[in-house]
Amino acid sequence: MSETDAVEDRLLTDCVDCLDPAEAFAVVGNETRLAILEALWRSADRPVAFSDLRRRVGMRDSAQFNYHLGKLTGQFVAKTDEGYEFRHAGEKVVRAVLSGSFNENPTVEPFEVPGECADCGGTLTASYVDEHLSVGCRECGRLHAHAPFPPGGLTDRSDEEVAHAFDQRVRHLHCLAADGVCPECGGRMATTLSQDAGPLDVAACSVHRCEQCDHRIRSPVGLSLLDQSDVVGFHTSHNADLRGRPHWTFEWCVGDRTTVLDDDPWRVRVAIPLNEEELRVTLDSELAVVAVERRRLD
Ligand SMILES: [Zn+2]
Ligand SMILES: [Zn+2]
Repeated sequence: MSETDAVEDRLLTDCVDCLDPAEAFAVVGNETRLAILEALWRSADRPVAFSDLRRRVGMRDSAQFNYHLGKLTGQFVAKTDEGYEFRHAGEKVVRAVLSGSFNENPTVEPFEVPGECADCGGTLTASYVDEHLSVGCRECGRLHAHAPFPPGGLTDRSDEEVAHAFDQRVRHLHCLAADGVCPECGGRMATTLSQDAGPLDVAACSVHRCEQCDHRIRSPVGLSLLDQSDVVGFHTSHNADLRGRPHWTFEWCVGDRTTVLDDDPWRVRVAIPLNEEELRVTLDSELAVVAVERRRLD
């Protein structure tokens, strides 16, 4: 597949150098084969020898077992000198099947999270709807964070731990995407800026889009400054902590402190006040910092 093909112009069925998609689903749409993948997944050590794998699946008929294993070998399972090992697609199938069972139809009562509303100073609460976690103000309703969070992430976690895990996940996925790596498929991600911030109430957000699988991540521009050297240095000089509190507690990250200076080429400024000083950071369309100004607030 050539690099110049736009994602939207391609059809799943167009793939010439991989297994036909309908055929691929047919291959794993079989209980014995799913049992083989699951047995491989549950093995502490891999590769797993043929006889061990057959015993774990609990299949007596060696020829039958060999037939099903053969169907998986290539795209889903790799055969090595020591036995059988996952290929990426095989492990993905198991995780996709299991992720639905990690925490089916979870219900989470809205709970209070650290921080206060960037607008009115009100209490912030997290709520979980349609596999998305949102942090919003209980008083004025302003949304401070909104992103997908897998239901499995709620298992065995207290409310506080869920809030922490959500914050970490948002930060890390954004970082990976901004560095040009798709968290879903490892493909190349391109970053653009947009004044359409979706449900978030910010002047501009960055949109990361995978050229390979079309996975998209949308995040407020300020998020990319949490580990930017000038911003980190500014906070260090004020003895302020950037890591020990959730990203939605930084008003410049989720609030009104972002200004679009120009959209051709893109120039977006984020103003970060701290004590009696302010750091003004200007970014371009790829989130590269093009200017930094530090000034005293009067
Ligand atoms: Zn509020
Ligand atoms: Zn991708």
